[in-house]
Amino acid sequence: MADNASRLAIHGGPKAVQTDTGDIFTWPIITEEDEQAVLEVLRAGTMSNWDVTKLFEQDFAEWHGVEHCLGFNTGTAALHAAMWACGVGVGDEIIAPSLTYWASALPAFSLGATIVFADVERDTLVLDPADLEHRITARTKAIVPVHYCGYPCDMDAIMESAERHGVKVIEDVSHAHGARYKGRLVGTLGHLAAMSVMSGKALPVGEGGLLLTNDQALYEKSFVFGHYERTSEATLPELQEYKGLPWGGHKYRMHQLSSAVGRVQLRHYGARLEEIQKSMNYFWDLLEGVPGLKAHRPPKDSGSTCGGWYAAHGLYRPEELGGLPIARFCEAVRAEGVGTSPGANFPLHLHPLLNTADIYGHGKPTRLANTDRDVRQPAGSLPVTEKAGSEIYSIPWFKHYRPQVIEEHAEAFRKAAECADELRA
Ligand SMILES: *Cc1c(COP(=O)(O)O)cnc(C)c1O
Repeated sequence: MADNASRLAIHGGPKAVQTDTGDIFTWPIITEEDEQAVLEVLRAGTMSNWDVTKLFEQDFAEWHGVEHCLGFNTGTAALHAAMWACGVGVGDEIIAPSLTYWASALPAFSLGATIVFADVERDTLVLDPADLEHRITARTKAIVPVHYCGYPCDMDAIMESAERHGVKVIEDVSHAHGARYKGRLVGTLGHLAAMSVMSGKALPVGEGGLLLTNDQALYEKSFVFGHYERTSEATLPELQEYKGLPWGGHKYRMHQLSSAVGRVQLRHYGARLEEIQKSMNYFWDLLEGVPGLKAHRPPKDSGSTCGGWYAAHGLYRPEELGGLPIARFCEAVRAEGVGTSPGANFPLHLHPLLNTADIYGHGKPTRLANTDRDVRQPAGSLPVTEKAGSEIYSIPWFKHYRPQVIEEHAEAFRKAAECADELRA
């Protein structure tokens, strides 16, 4: 480095990002094809019907090679119905990661169940199968592995544990549409999968959710919970008596404008996914070996992928940078012209809603409403999750393979890491 001149933009050097980024970050990609599909539904006045939704479900099921797909108005609703279908009820427990969006776990409360959080692994940010295993009890009805930021969970280990204990597994695929685990599509590996397809996600259709399963009974229970209009399709003997009304008292069907967009988005998703993967992998290849920075992606020869790289993050190893605080690191990267910030989802187990809130008037915290043991998890109980906030940072989500732009963005991170001494001073 030159004597007085700094390479760092934060100290007056030239910014790493010079090239116009154009539409490289634009998402969702909406074309005339999406507009036409929406107009068709609007002009037919069938926004509340479910004929287009059924076609979208067929398309999605076919892509996954799964028997049943069910559309929902949100991913949250899909998770709620999935939990109920798995038998989650009063006094039961579900196990979920604490490092996730709240909908992976919170719907359990309204079923009278409670939540036990398991820790994640430092390098993958997804459920640690060993930690999960020792949290399974006789009350556990379902495990909700989240393929966090696209990274596929270790489904072999999770399914092995679950089968041994007779527990159902609901994959939360909201971050990982099209991601692969050892070559297989996520969403096909648990007993059931539920996911969001809201506009910000990698598969963006509007507000919406999808559920996948090969199990006829789980499928029927999933639709009788919040799809009253489909209850007549139920074949299970125990559902016969109650046709016409939704068991959950919910109305969960997908809006047809969303289904219409979904069909178009799905047709293009394969190609878009490929370009995103090429771009994101290029970004990380450029940063290979830079101290302090580590890619959050499965090993190249594993057959596993991060799908559409939703909410892409990088791993930060301050011990390799003389302890440079992540906030300072991100500040320097931002000065180079790249938006980034430390952390991701707030650990759910430390939120007051999971500790003190009496949501339904039980006269005690809802977390403990129907159980005789205190399942709350104070600070320190999930060390990896609690540390993740200071060990991950958001990275750019490139939708197009434009090497120059990607190289400049990678350079911003490289500069900040390589000048850690200067930043610490
Ligand atoms: C977005 C999201 C959901 C909820 O989906 P909505 O469609 O917003 O209701 C559930 N789980 C995870 C991990 C999510 O990121």
